[in-house]
Order: sequence, then C-alpha cells, then structure tokens
Amino acid sequence: MKKVVVIGSGVGGSAIAALLAKQGAEVHVFERNNFLGGKAASYVRDGFTCDMGIHYTARGDNGPLGIVAKKVSADLQFITEDPFLHLIWDNKSCKLPLKFTGLVPLAKMALTTGVKIKNYWVAFKILNKLLSANTLEDVEPYNDVPLKDFLYQYTDDPELHTLIAIFCGLLIAIPIEEASTGEFMWCFSTWAKTASCAYPRGGFGEICNSYIKTLKKNNGIVRIDEGVKDIKVTNNRVSGVETNKGFYPADIVISNAGIKRTIELAGENQFDEPFVNQTTALRDSLAAVTIKYALDYKPVDIPITLYCDKGFDLKEFIDEISQGKIPKSNPPLFIPCPSVIDNTLAPFGKHILLAGTAVPLSYKNNEQLKEIIDRVDKKVMELFPGIDDHIIFKHTTDVSYIKKMSGRHAGDAIGLAQSYDQVWKNRPGHQTSIEGLYLVGSDAGGNGIGTEMAADSALKLDELITQKYDFK
Ligand SMILES: Cc1cc2nc3c(=O)[nH]c(=O)nc-3n(C[C@H](O)[C@H](O)[C@H](O)COP(=O)(O)OP(=O)(O)OC[C@H]3O[C@@H](n4cnc5c(N)ncnc54)[C@H](O)[C@@H]3O)c2cc1C
Repeated sequence: MKKVVVIGSGVGGSAIAALLAKQGAEVHVFERNNFLGGKAASYVRDGFTCDMGIHYTARGDNGPLGIVAKKVSADLQFITEDPFLHLIWDNKSCKLPLKFTGLVPLAKMALTTGVKIKNYWVAFKILNKLLSANTLEDVEPYNDVPLKDFLYQYTDDPELHTLIAIFCGLLIAIPIEEASTGEFMWCFSTWAKTASCAYPRGGFGEICNSYIKTLKKNNGIVRIDEGVKDIKVTNNRVSGVETNKGFYPADIVISNAGIKRTIELAGENQFDEPFVNQTTALRDSLAAVTIKYALDYKPVDIPITLYCDKGFDLKEFIDEISQGKIPKSNPPLFIPCPSVIDNTLAPFGKHILLAGTAVPLSYKNNEQLKEIIDRVDKKVMELFPGIDDHIIFKHTTDVSYIKKMSGRHAGDAIGLAQSYDQVWKNRPGHQTSIEGLYLVGSDAGGNGIGTEMAADSALKLDELITQKYDFK
C-alpha cells in the first residue's frame, strides 16, 4: 500500500488527507500546532466558540468545501440565513439577500454607496460582465488585467470603484490595483450565483475537524504537536519526513505548509533553480487584524455586517502604513456574528461578534498597529451602541498571530496573492520538481476565495494523484 504523508492540517491538508484515505491510501498527517485547521481553526473559551481568523464561506454546501465533505461523507452542516449581509456605508445602510444581484438589491446597494444615478447603467454593465463567467476558461482572457484597469474601461466613478474595491478586499484581500480581474470575476460570480453564503455549524474549525474524523475512520493517523523538520529527498525523489520524534518513510509527501516553507523543509538545493527563483519572487495577500467580542446580549440580527467609509482607498491605506505613517482613513470592517444563526457557539442568550480588517504584512512601528486596532474597536462601539457594557471578554489578534497559526513564512490572510501576475499559469501548481512531492492549500493549483481555494486545490490534487497512483 502506498504511504502518504501530509504536512499540515489546514483546509487543504485535511481535505486531501481525507480524500486519499477514502481512496484506500495509508495516510499520516503531521501538524505542528496542538490543534487542527491552521488559519481556519476555532477555539473555545468560557463556552464561546471563536474563529482564530474571521471566517464565512462564500458557497457553503455548493462550493468546494461542501463537495469535499460529500465525497468523504463528513458530518458537516452549513447554515445559511436570508438576508445575510448588512451593508453600512458612512451613515447609510441596506440589508442584502443571498441573491444580491437582483435589480432591487442592486438599486439599494447603489443608493447606499452613493453611486451616481447617471452611472447606474454602467454599474449594471460591469456587474453583467463580472457575472458572465461560467467556467475558468471564460475568465482566462482577464487573468492578467489589473481590476482597476478593467473598471476604468467602464467608468471613473469613485464610489463605484470603492464598492468593487471593498468586495475585492473582502474576497481576495488585495487592492484593485494588484488584483487579477479574471480571479476576482471567478470569486465574485461563483459567490453571487450560488447564493449560498454560509457558516459551518459548530464553528469554522468544524470543517477541518470533520474531514479529519473521516480520515481516522478510514484508518488514517493524525499527529498534532509534531511538526515536520525536514522533507527527505533521495535521487530527486521523496523518501519521507523527519519530525522531532523520528523518521517516517513515505512514497508521497504532500505539503500544506505553503510553497516557500516547503522549499525550506526539503532544502533549496533539491529544486531546480528556475523553480526556486520563481517562488522567491511570489508575493502574498494582505494580512488582517481581528477583535473577537464575547457578549452577554444579542448585538445584531443579521449574520454579517460590512462597514466602509465613503471614498476609502485600500491601496492608499496600505501604502501609508508601509511608509510608517498613521493612515488618514478608517479601515473598512468585516463583522460576522455567527452565533445569531448557530446557537451552539455561545452560552444561552450570549453571542460572539468578530471584527476584522486587512492590513499589510509588516509595520514600521507598533504605534501604527495599536492605532489601527483602536480604530477597529472604536468603530465597533459606534456601530453597536451600548456594546461596551456587554463585553465578557475581548481577544485581539494581529499579523504575528496568523503567522503562528499557519506556520507559513508570512502572516498573510489568504495565501499567495491572487494578483494579475500570479494567477493561472503564473501560479504554482501542485507538482514540484521533486518526484512524489506535492503542494496543497491556498498557494497551489486552486481557484476561489480563501478556504474554498484551499479545498479546490485538494479536489484537483486528488484527481491528479489518483490518476497516477493506484491505492487499491
Ligand atoms: C483573519 C482571517 C480572515 C479570513 N477570512 C476568510 C473568510 O471569510 N473566508 C474564507 O474562505 N477564507 C478566509 N480566510 C483565509 C483562509 O483562512 C485561508 O486562505 C485558508 O484557511 C488557508 O488554508 P491552507 O490549506 O492553505 O492552510 P493554512 O491555514 O495555512 O494551514 C497550514 C497548516 O500547515 C501546518 N504546518 C505548517 N508547517 C508545518 C510543518 N513544518 N509541520 C507540520 N505542520 C505544518 C500549520 O500549522 C497549519 O495548520 C481568512 C484568513 C484570516 C487569517
């Protein structure tokens, strides 16, 4: 029987481990943390289940996360709610249904965000174009076009640019100046068309936990708190991995540790020079800061609040921080309150609210970080008046926390940036130049939004590996 070692139990790692074990492979997962799930993990404190990041799935059951769950018969349930989103733009707001691309919700969104009436027709044309993508081949001609350039072909209406930029930041965590139009089209159209934005019952960590449960049912083994120190390679072929507890032989090693960390684990000299050079130059998505609020009341009825100041410019915000300045504008906020649809996440009558925003991967000084976290907190106090009197505990996380959770080389929120020069053929695939060594997760071979891209990567790798190896 073929022995498979999977390094890491993030969404990509736990999905591929479960998929291959289901096919009959002998699978062994090593996880350096003492919990499963990487960035998509949850933790429980005082009866509250909190996401380590801040998560929502764009497509729930109808996307790659749900497809993996069905394939491996995982006990995973996605919950949806309609309306699902409360959009707050300065002092205006509207509630959006899951099918938010209908004429009425679009008109509400345009009114709320201040798109000029004369530009409604152009907004409709942009939306139609974005929604025209049905396959990855449809978006291919737009892959190397920066989203900002795509928008300028239609309009220079700043409110329309800000609106699309906010969706871009939310879905792929980079500014429109860098984003690939094709990749954004794919993320946006699959999200909008499936109209099944959802949260997994029991907390986001249940996604990886449920995959790993099926792995165990299929005789797979998981070792938490046992990081891989080296990937062993003999004559350009993997032979196994070394952890702090010993050597484990393997025919196939699949790394969920990110492409740059994987090269370090195997040793740079084991790879072709062009592969190493190409990889070193790859850039990551933005990072995030988050504040989790455990509350003794219900602050909101709708599961997600999305807040933005009129005219916000993500690139300017990021550039100011990178130059060591305190940014002029307030950051937009993504604020899910998943306990309004899943009462298992908090003790009776209590709720968990999470607020987060995108930030660069590094700061010039700690004052900047402190200021941004203060602004997030202050805005939450304004958006939910009186919340201050109901806080049981508050947990703040920053870039270093994400880096620690994922074990990657950086604290990026998503993985490699889905920028116009890093998608499609310019993005790493699953295969490396070492025989038997594969990559899985948000860096490798998938498309879509965060966790769904990682699950998509696992589904595609499952296909590739089962064509090549017979596990029966
Ligand atoms: C604040 C925040 C908000 C987000 N919001 C969303 C959202 O709303 N929706 C969404 O879909 N996505 C969201 N994401 C993105 C999403 O979490 C990631 O894109 C996705 O989880 C990445 O999965 P992955 O498979 O690439 O692995 P990762 O999560 O990066 O996990 C890698 C795993 O490998 C392990 N590992 C690394 N090195 C080793 C080693 N040497 N030995 C053993 N194990 C190792 C790590 O410990 C980790 O468990 C968000 C992320 C953050 C941080």
